[in-house]
Amino acid sequence: MKNKITYYNCHTHRKPQSENEFCIRNAFLNTTAANNCNYTISNGLHPWFANNYSSSEIENILTNLAKLPKNLAIGEIGLDKMKPHFEKQMTVFLQQLEIAEKFKKPLIIHQVKAYEEILPLLRSYKGKVVLHGFQGNAQQWEQLNKNGNVYVSFGAAILGENEKTKQTLNAIPLSYLLAETDNAPLKIDRIYNTIAAIKQIPILELAQQIELNFRGVFGSNLNA
Ligand SMILES: [Zn+2]
Repeated sequence: MKNKITYYNCHTHRKPQSENEFCIRNAFLNTTAANNCNYTISNGLHPWFANNYSSSEIENILTNLAKLPKNLAIGEIGLDKMKPHFEKQMTVFLQQLEIAEKFKKPLIIHQVKAYEEILPLLRSYKGKVVLHGFQGNAQQWEQLNKNGNVYVSFGAAILGENEKTKQTLNAIPLSYLLAETDNAPLKIDRIYNTIAAIKQIPILELAQQIELNFRGVFGSNLNA
């Protein structure tokens, strides 16, 4: 029987890996990549590169990218305490939040050891928020999700032996789950299968729910 599942990969740094994958490829602030692709993208300045652009460059480039129909989200953007220039990271993040709010775009968030700083900012964001590669626990997600708009995307971390990540996955309700491959060289169906096994639900049920969540976050007019 033909496998009818469409796999929704909400955050990857690669092109779609199979015909039945619908992906959002992270294209940073790269306008060339944005112009020459036939899949959907997200755009934003990653906190690791916060120092590489001036605020006027960010304003101009990101505003133009956000207007593209194939742009489905602003991201990955965020804060990372393990990397330098935290103050600049914050300035860049706030600027991109404003642009995202203006264009009513969902966010794809990269956050490492900056939970306290990011909490009030995400709580006051009016649109949908996706925590990509989330390393926190379910209590932290509940705090972030006070307004019911914060989704959690799981990727390669659930394939390993990290019990904490699996516990978090188990505690997040299905209606807030998304899946991703990020920069890992693997296919999204492996992430789906692993989530289904950990949550002990049929793969079809999981796929239907992720599709609903994905459409809820990124829009219902997707050509998938
Ligand atoms: Zn990424």
